[in-house]
Amino acid sequence: MKYFLDPRKVSAAGICCVSHAHSDHMPSSFDGGPLFCSDITLRCLRGRVKSKKSKNYLENVERGDLPSVNASGAGHILGSNMFMIDEGKKVLYTGDFCPQDRLGMEGARPQKCDALIIEATYGNPRYRFPNRNAMMGVIRDWVEDTLNQGCSAVLYSYPLGKSQELTTMLKEFQPRLHGSVLDTTRMMEADDLKFDYLPFDPADDTPQLVISHNTKGENGLSALGKKRTATVSGWCLSGRSWGMDEGFAYSDHADFYEIIDFVKRCSPDQVYMHHGSEEILAKEIRERLGITAVPLKKGQSNLGSYF
Ligand SMILES: [Zn+2]
Repeated sequence: MKYFLDPRKVSAAGICCVSHAHSDHMPSSFDGGPLFCSDITLRCLRGRVKSKKSKNYLENVERGDLPSVNASGAGHILGSNMFMIDEGKKVLYTGDFCPQDRLGMEGARPQKCDALIIEATYGNPRYRFPNRNAMMGVIRDWVEDTLNQGCSAVLYSYPLGKSQELTTMLKEFQPRLHGSVLDTTRMMEADDLKFDYLPFDPADDTPQLVISHNTKGENGLSALGKKRTATVSGWCLSGRSWGMDEGFAYSDHADFYEIIDFVKRCSPDQVYMHHGSEEILAKEIRERLGITAVPLKKGQSNLGSYF
């Protein structure tokens, strides 16, 4: 059996598993076959694909169900999954992942496996995130202080995942969701998943908390009058704030030390890595853990004896 993990194209040529609907993981075309993904990811895929053919496929898609494929939460964004493929040898694919429980979402749990395919986004020892619970406190305090000073607080974050995390984290401030953040949040919602927010209203200029995607094409944000801005991203660790007043290093990815700990607990014979600092992470895993580790090659579609 062939397995395709976060493939560019979903087809009947193999078992297609999609971890989540961020653009660097989601397929760009859908051409038949069953699909392995969570309900939330399916809703996001339906909302994000462009072509009529792909939309049709996703409206009528058959959901994958095989004893050799076991999905579990990746703790990255709501609905994100890891996949354990068991064809005699166990291969765990993490997609993007975060091991820490937060805001009602369970973090990724390590699982014993023979081979591990892991993300390397922050796979460099220079990346150690501040404690996420402490960062939540820092962000809350900043919002509260800003509103108390009679200014609006505008948080910029990625529309899928981080924005819903901020919406939940800051619900006491009744966040206003702007543009693609509002559209994406509505796309994720269902009877069993609701968020607490108001749509951004350009006619309302009272001091408020706004969550938005980026500074370009502000579409009404200038009506807010006095405002302070902050970006929320793991990349703020390197001191970047993209011209905002503040940058908060809060991430929904594992940092380097969480990756190393996760690999150790999965105790695989072989690790493959993708997305990010692959070469550096491979070297660190070999040196620190004594486990064979190599980056996945671009377009690599099989793991030799594993599958
Ligand atoms: Zn992602």
